[in-house]
Amino acid sequence: MKFGGTSVADAQCIRQVVDILEKHYKAGDELAVVVSAQRGVTDQIIEIIGKLPTAKDDSAIAPLIQALGKRHITTLEGAAPDFVAETGAVIEERLISLQNILFAVYNLRELTPRSKDYIISFGERLLAPILSAAIRQRGIPSTVLDGCDAGILTTPQHGESTALPESDERIKKRLEPLLGNEIPVIMGFMGCTRNGIITTLGRSGSDYSASIIGAGIDADEIWIWTDVDGIMTCDPRVINDARVMSSLSYIEVMELSYFGAKVMHPRSIEPAMRKNILVRVKNTFNPSHPGTVIVRNGQRDNRVVKALTYIDKVAAININGAQMIGRPGVAKAIFSILADHEVNVMMISQGSSEANISLIVDEVHLNAAVHALTDLVKQGIVREVTHNHDVCAVAVVGAGMAGAPGTGGRIFTSLGKAGVNVMMISQGSSEANISFVVNQQDGPRAVRVLHDEFRLSEECDE
Ligand code: ASP
Ligand code: MG
Repeated sequence: MKFGGTSVADAQCIRQVVDILEKHYKAGDELAVVVSAQRGVTDQIIEIIGKLPTAKDDSAIAPLIQALGKRHITTLEGAAPDFVAETGAVIEERLISLQNILFAVYNLRELTPRSKDYIISFGERLLAPILSAAIRQRGIPSTVLDGCDAGILTTPQHGESTALPESDERIKKRLEPLLGNEIPVIMGFMGCTRNGIITTLGRSGSDYSASIIGAGIDADEIWIWTDVDGIMTCDPRVINDARVMSSLSYIEVMELSYFGAKVMHPRSIEPAMRKNILVRVKNTFNPSHPGTVIVRNGQRDNRVVKALTYIDKVAAININGAQMIGRPGVAKAIFSILADHEVNVMMISQGSSEANISLIVDEVHLNAAVHALTDLVKQGIVREVTHNHDVCAVAVVGAGMAGAPGTGGRIFTSLGKAGVNVMMISQGSSEANISFVVNQQDGPRAVRVLHDEFRLSEECDE
């Protein structure tokens, strides 16, 4: 079971988490717990350390340490009153070590990806001992492990590392003796390299940790506890009658998370899928709701389209030039120069005339991308590069679209009737996703039209 930042935001939330754990433990379930930092803590740490190397003075450090100390000790007092002395000492010690590291970053005027990973793992380092103490407060034994102790070995890609296959065996060896005898609490978001250097798995990485751990111990189920009832047909801030789906397939969840739905860390499905483990998404604050179940083949129903996502923080780039026609290597030149500049391309489309390639990138990468591609114009490989900031990408997701003729027709006919102009379309060969790009201001209307067209707010025969 993984609990996210909102589920452990304060003492009261933590007591609710322990209610859930206690119930399952007493029913005889063998449990391992993965936990995130308290809501907002990782952001707080990242904000300060980003500025430290160029800060005029070190005055930002003390208030951060004090704020973290106050919040965590207050949480501890409310969640595990009998362990305030013991666990409080652990927290104080970690805060001193964090403070020393922050002074070092300031004095060295340098923040390497490696030190950054260690620093941003402190949110989890501060919180996990509190949850473990709260479990012991109920008379259930519990120990704390960091991601590395729990056996998660990763690639050395700091900030975005991936679990290595040999993690499975290490995790099993470390956790199996504990299961059933206690509830081990594992710090999410982090692992380490083969040399023992701490790495992080990317923002929201605790979901991924849970899946890695679940795969390692061959869990029957992986439960992701969050603050909503399950995965929804669309962002409820855009579509007010968005609905919680009872079941989805691994592929559908992957497509949704790649395209910006804040469902789960995008890589977190892979370990579960590898071991064919059922994943449940449930609400800590409404535990009797069945939530969403994620399995290999989603429940068969009559729906071809299941959910929609909408990302507005993207930009479109158009690359034109008749010289691109029939010339091998142009795509290679474009994508390798973008990769060199660390631009992540989210969507690609090339017409069969080959005179034009369109790309969608994250807004934050736009300048780097345009700058890189201008080089290709200078070299005469392409004629012209233009870009457009005011666009958004919509993804229509449903594994049932594969081999279902007419879905594309329905999508674009309904958009056409609503007067929404589509600027670019892309469909992967998995056919579980059709994505398209429209003007920024048309985005919410486009998802509204499609949510209605495919009757996503209705239960159907799910
Ligand atoms: N604390 C980390 C983050 O904020 C990991 C997580 O919450 O899953 O990104
Ligand atoms: Mg999260």
